[in-house]
Amino acid sequence: MVGHAELKSLFESLNLANTPVIAHASLKKFGRIEGGPKTVIQAMLGSFRSVIMPTFTYKTMITPEVGPPNNGITYGSDRDNNKMAESFTHAMLPDKMMGLLPFALLHAQGSMRTAHPILSFSGVKADEILLTQTLFEPLAPIAALADAGGWVVLINVDHSVNTSIHYGEKLSGRRQFVRWAVVGNRIVECPGFPGDSSGFNAIEEYIKPDTRRVDMGDYFVQAVPLKRLFAAVQEMIKNDPLALLCQNPECERCGAVKALEV
Ligand SMILES: [Zn+2]
Repeated sequence: MVGHAELKSLFESLNLANTPVIAHASLKKFGRIEGGPKTVIQAMLGSFRSVIMPTFTYKTMITPEVGPPNNGITYGSDRDNNKMAESFTHAMLPDKMMGLLPFALLHAQGSMRTAHPILSFSGVKADEILLTQTLFEPLAPIAALADAGGWVVLINVDHSVNTSIHYGEKLSGRRQFVRWAVVGNRIVECPGFPGDSSGFNAIEEYIKPDTRRVDMGDYFVQAVPLKRLFAAVQEMIKNDPLALLCQNPECERCGAVKALEV
């Protein structure tokens, strides 16, 4: 069984003790963890200056009947789900797709969560970074983290879950989308919604020289400085306007970006 000491030595091997980080993780590879996901959070908070994670909530989302064109969405297609959409609250659980760790961070001592109804971030010792988020700039905490010398840390996961790549896409001028969410008895328009991330592994080879990676038994952790990550995304998209998009012809958001480039 993996415990605090092993996890701490894994994270400390990245040498990021004075660095604020954004983290993404899959805990499955660790097998049983002594104390559960909380132990992973404690080990992270002891190994990095501060930690933020996406605690996104997709069940607040509504698909309207009409909206702006080329928005990577089929209007009027989700009537049944619309009926089940729930109003965002600060206590709402992060989406299951995010895994167990964001839930543990959200409930960690001293944790703060932003109020974006779909794209909220949570963190510890990162209040100033988190407070940069607005409804119009949902990814602002990632930019603020980069300005503070931040890195992205990927625990047993690859770049297909690396939310920060979306900020590099935005900097490249790549199309962002509009989505809608329920807040109280209103429907709120949420601009700046990012594209699809399933093609993001194409960046792996490209940023290998800038990546710190440590393997320990069955599990691994890798980290990249955010500024370098953004630069790499911009270089890739400059060289190929379709870079980092997925190959699935059914993918609506990648399709919307392709439609603008062809
Ligand atoms: Zn796609």
